[in-house]
Order: sequence, then structure tokens, then C-alpha cells
Amino acid sequence: MAIDFTLSPELEDLRLRVRDFIQNVVKPGEENIGDPDKIERSDYLRILLQMRSEARAAGLWLPHMPAEWGGMGLGHVQLAMVQAEAAKAYYGPWVMNCQAPDEGNMHTLLHWATDAQKEQYLRPLCDGVVMSCFAMTEPEVAGSDPTLIQTRARLVGDDWVINGHKWFISNARRASFAILIARTEDDPERPQAANTGFIVDIPSDGWKRVREVETMHGASGHSEIVIENLRVPRANMLGERGQGHRLGQYRLGPARLAHCMRWIAQAETALDMMVDRSLKRFAHGSLLAEKQGIQWMIADSTMELYQAKLMVLHAAYRIDRGLDFISEVSMAKHFVANALGRIIDRSIQVHGALGYSTDTPLAHMYQHARWARFADGADEVHQMRIAQRTIAAYRDHGTTKTATGSLPL
Ligand SMILES: Cc1cc2nc3c(=O)[nH]c(=O)nc-3n(C[C@H](O)[C@H](O)[C@H](O)COP(=O)(O)OP(=O)(O)OC[C@H]3O[C@@H](n4cnc5c(N)ncnc54)[C@H](O)[C@@H]3O)c2cc1C
Repeated sequence: MAIDFTLSPELEDLRLRVRDFIQNVVKPGEENIGDPDKIERSDYLRILLQMRSEARAAGLWLPHMPAEWGGMGLGHVQLAMVQAEAAKAYYGPWVMNCQAPDEGNMHTLLHWATDAQKEQYLRPLCDGVVMSCFAMTEPEVAGSDPTLIQTRARLVGDDWVINGHKWFISNARRASFAILIARTEDDPERPQAANTGFIVDIPSDGWKRVREVETMHGASGHSEIVIENLRVPRANMLGERGQGHRLGQYRLGPARLAHCMRWIAQAETALDMMVDRSLKRFAHGSLLAEKQGIQWMIADSTMELYQAKLMVLHAAYRIDRGLDFISEVSMAKHFVANALGRIIDRSIQVHGALGYSTDTPLAHMYQHARWARFADGADEVHQMRIAQRTIAAYRDHGTTKTATGSLPL
């Protein structure tokens, strides 16, 4: 067997092109934007759209989509290189049109939508002329358990009539359509087969955005939505009746891993900053970098980032090979989300008061990193599933070997 971590010359070239683009186009663009709350809206949009058109001109557009949809047609291992470079800048993934939740929605539509739905919704999303959102979580019931979803869709004539309540719907205020998950089945064969996906045009009568939920990183586009007698044509059902859970799961595999790829970029930035600061700050007779307490923080962060990279690469490899990847993505998502928080936290510690200030990006990164531990699957839910699979592997094979990535070790 071949285990080879060297990149092909083409992939190495691509990686360097993305790095170059982020460094020379996106980071200067971000500097021009400065504080997005203070810049004129028209200037803000002009800078963002200019960066997008440069990305398209450079062939760095839609890395995750096939060529027939205007994308770069990359596999998941290749995508890991691109996302990990793109997310070195805050707007990098958005500029290259591979940001959440649009990216996950594109995968979902590509796999589940009819040809007509693809032309109407996927095409403009790929062209970057519209945005989208994904509406599943509800305030009244645990988002960790989609079998509890209460938003209800009933077929009345040729329309689905939907009533319910959603919140934390990222991007809803900018979206032209939502992929909405609602309960359609009263008595499903399995609890997981109660829900169905729908494509909802925004604006629509009956889709009411009542507020932006204020979070620990501000009110940054996560909306609460009240759904009252929303009529959705039968043709806008996504997938089959009762496939809403499968659709969500399908979406979350690659989308979770894409989050991990972007978090690796953030963790690497935090570690780079930690080391840089330790080489410049002097206290009690030596540089911070020379103190064992600081070296332990650097060492722990280095080991965790290394593990994170290997887990993401291996999960991506399994997706590319058509192998079962659920457990590997789950383990990667849990590990990388937690490593990210720890590495940023240590970097803040090494920066002292500066790290707590907003003069560096660390405080902002820390606030964002916190949601990583429960969005797209809370830590404990991933742990529950990982443990179930490990126990099942032992029961079936007398060993846990297959539960640890089926690696030849
Ligand atoms: C920034 C952000 C963006 C989001 N964007 C979207 C979006 O665009 N669309 C959308 O639909 N949702 C979105 N969400 C919601 C997110 O998917 C949910 O927060 C997540 O699914 C968890 O659901 P919940 O918040 O209801 O927590 P709950 O399900 O109530 O869980 C709370 C806690 O209970 C514990 N827990 C749950 N189950 C178990 C278990 N089996 N064993 C042990 N402990 C358990 C965990 O500690 C968990 O954190 C977003 C959330 C955030 C913070």
C-alpha cells in the first residue's frame, strides 16, 4: 500500500495560488474594510464584490463544486488544502464562494434537488448572485435531536402549508431562499423518517424574521423566524417525504469537515501568533519562548494541530474513496473544535492583556470558536455516537480496530 503525503505539483501550485490570493487580495481588502460596522455599506459591498470578481478571474471560485457548476471540481483532500489557506483571512471563504451555510446547501442541492430546482436555486448560488440559509433548529426543542422537530408541514391541495418556529438561522437576513426542515409524517416507520426538506423563497408571506439573535460575538446574522401558514408549492419539496433527516446528515458530513478545514487555518494563525509573541516578549530575565511553562503551551498546541490535520486529511481521504466516513468526520469535528478553542485560549494567555483586547484578532476568533463545540453536532452527541460505534465494532469483530479509522495499525 502507498501512504504518501507529498502533494502533486498541480495541487502544490493550487495551494500556493490560494495562499498568494489571500495574502495579496483578500487581506488588503479586509484592511480597506476595517470595521464593517463603520464603513459605508456601498463601499463595503464594492470591496467585497471586487474581491469576488478577482477570485473568479483567478480561477479560485467554488473549490467544492464540479466544473459543470462553475467550480474547481476538487476532491475533499484537495479541498482541505484550499479551505485551510482560504480561512487564513476572515472573508477568504466568502470571497471564493465556499463559506457556510451556502457551501453545505450547494452540496445538498447538488445531491437532492430535481433538475428544475437546481437551475432555479443552485445555479444562482454557484454564480454568487444569491445567498441561502438552512433552517432546522427550534427554540422549543433540543436541536441535537431532530426527531423532536415541531415545525409542521401539511399538504393542502398542491401546496404544503407550514407552521413553526426556528432560530439561529445563519444568513437568513441575506438569503434568497432557505432549505427548511419540517415534520410531515405522523406515524413514521422510524422516528428519523418524520421530517422532510423544503425550499422556501425569501421573502414569502408566512416567513417572518422576527429578530437577529444577539450572541457573544454580536448580532452577526443568526435570525429567529416565525413561520405562519407559509405556503410552499409541492414542486419545492427537496428529496422525498420523510428524507429530511437523511438530507441533513448528508449535508453535515462534508460541511462538518469543511468547518474543520477552516478551523485548522484559525488554529494555525493562533499558534503562529503565540510563537511570534513569545519570541518578542521579555520578562523575568528571558524571552517567554525560553520559559518551560510557555514551551508546554506551544508544544501542546503543536501536537493538537498536528493531530487535527491528520484527522481531517484521513476523513477527507475516506470521503474521496467512497468509504464510510461518518465516524471519522465525527471524531475530527469533535477534536478540531476543541483543539481550536484550547489553542486560541493559550495564544491569548501568552499575549496577556493584548490577547484580551480587540487589537489582535484573537478575541474575535475565541468568540467564534466557542460555537464550534455545539453547532453541527454538540460534543456530547458526537461522543455518544463514537462510543456506540466503538462498542458495536467490538461486539461485531471482537476488537475496536475498525472504530479507530480502520487504519492498518
Ligand atoms: C453561531 C451558530 C450558528 C448556527 N447556525 C444554524 C443554522 O444556520 N441553522 C440551524 O438550523 N441551526 C443553526 N445553529 C443551531 C445549532 O445547530 C444548534 O445549536 C445545535 O444543533 C444544538 O442544538 P441546541 O442549541 O438546541 O442545543 P441542545 O440540543 O438543547 O443541547 C444542549 C446541550 O445538551 C447536551 N446534549 C445534547 N444531547 C446530548 C446527549 N445525547 N448526551 C449528552 N449531552 C447532550 C450538549 O452539551 C448540548 O450542547 C447555529 C448555532 C450557532 C451557535
